[in-house]
Amino acid sequence: MTQDILTQIASVVGPNGLLTAPADKAPFEEEERGLYHGKALAVVRPASTAEVAAVVKLCAEAGVAIVPQGGNTGLCGGGAPDDSGRQIVLSLGRMNRVRAVDPLNFTMTVEAGVILQTLQKTAEEAGCLFPLSLGAEGSCVIGGNISTNAGGSGVLRYGNTRELVLGLEVVLPDGQVWDGLRSLRKDNTGYDLKQLFIGGEGTLGIITAAVIKLFPRPRDVQTAFCAMADLDSVLALLARARAASGDQVTAFELIGRSGLVLDLENLPGIADPFAEPHDWYVLMELSTSRPEGSLQESLESLLGEAMEAGEVVDAVMAQSMDQRNALWRIREGVPEAQKKAGGSIKHDVSVPVSSVPELIRRATPAVETALPGVRVIPFGHVGDGNIHYNLSQPKGADKQAFLAEWENMNRIVHDIVVELRGSISAEHGIGKLKKGELAHYKESLELDLMRKIKAALDPMGVMNPGKIL
Ligand code: FAD
Ligand code: ZN
Repeated sequence: MTQDILTQIASVVGPNGLLTAPADKAPFEEEERGLYHGKALAVVRPASTAEVAAVVKLCAEAGVAIVPQGGNTGLCGGGAPDDSGRQIVLSLGRMNRVRAVDPLNFTMTVEAGVILQTLQKTAEEAGCLFPLSLGAEGSCVIGGNISTNAGGSGVLRYGNTRELVLGLEVVLPDGQVWDGLRSLRKDNTGYDLKQLFIGGEGTLGIITAAVIKLFPRPRDVQTAFCAMADLDSVLALLARARAASGDQVTAFELIGRSGLVLDLENLPGIADPFAEPHDWYVLMELSTSRPEGSLQESLESLLGEAMEAGEVVDAVMAQSMDQRNALWRIREGVPEAQKKAGGSIKHDVSVPVSSVPELIRRATPAVETALPGVRVIPFGHVGDGNIHYNLSQPKGADKQAFLAEWENMNRIVHDIVVELRGSISAEHGIGKLKKGELAHYKESLELDLMRKIKAALDPMGVMNPGKIL
């Protein structure tokens, strides 16, 4: 039976589209964090929507489960096959064409396997901006971004991936193709079906193409790194900056002293922008599509006001692209520095923006009491209420012993998040990693609705089984 289905798939995708040798399959079986080690029957790499549809139909008929995969940078194990050796990984990497760019409609129609960075460049060449931006942009692909509803550092101004998608083309679990590739900003014709697949982590169908939104390209970008008086001042500065700039704040990222210290200890070429240490820092960026002019003045004057009000204690403004990159490196280096500092336990959570200080103030003593010596490294997209509330192992401690605390720490932090009416997954999704947490915290009515949707679209359970639910 196994050989049968592989022969049939090979006749659809050709020899280039089917990988069965262990060494060829290996990179698709291992995920980013190395938490899951799967074993796939084969890796299938179709080159067109018709090929995806034909492969899915064959698998559905034979009852072979399919794990869709994009750039394989996901952090929750959603793209990892199980270890049965009976699932196929369907990789979209060969579907990498930009089908159309429409600068007047401010849209692009793209295939699922186009690398995010390629899309950013394509948009730029058309004089536009595709604002999705994240650390993995050189290797993640748009189909994966849509399937995880990726966030990143531009959400404050442009929204999550969900807000950036106008239409989708999807191969359903029975092999039918749904052509929802509409490029409309207004469409009120019943249920908005595309929303089911956005953030669906490949459990309801395979996204093969999308219409995504473009924006005018920013021509003036101003960046500041601020030392804050305290946590509450962070929110005061955000509100002030949004109001004073005509809502031109494009990024507003929080970094704690602990994160900067980790950077300084573990990454070459990072310098503390200030002579004195401070508990909290904000990396703030304003941008406008107007040609260079008054933005720098707006930033200077709003920082001056924030200093007078006692919110900002000290600040530096980037005077060049190199300086801007150096400031962003402090923020983006934190996860990398954490990796070098030993084991880390992560919480990618969100709460209402106004509750971020309370989250940090309540969670920190709680985890420090439960695990003496733990290094609390909260950082991230505070402008969206999304904090990566990460923990690094105590210095010199045993990594495995620390990681064994994963569930205990999750319970402490997630309980507080849920009390504040937040989300246990603001970015990255559920995958395998947070399935237990989802089942623990989600209302049973909501879980039940999700199961009904899954059963309606995928009654055979062939599409990425064992993920989310
Ligand atoms: P994959 O990892 O291949 O897949 C992710 C999920 O989507 C899986 O469940 C998979 O089955 C499904 N899937 C993939 N393609 C399809 C498809 N075409 N149709 C249906 N299902 C599909 N994420 C953020 O949100 N914000 C960040 O700031 C961020 N920063 C990151 C920084 C680094 C350094 C790294 C390594 C990761 C980061 N991530 C971030 C996580 C990750 O990059 C995102 O989740 C990204 O959107 C995943 O895209 P991918 O192409 O790698 O998808
Ligand atoms: Zn993030």
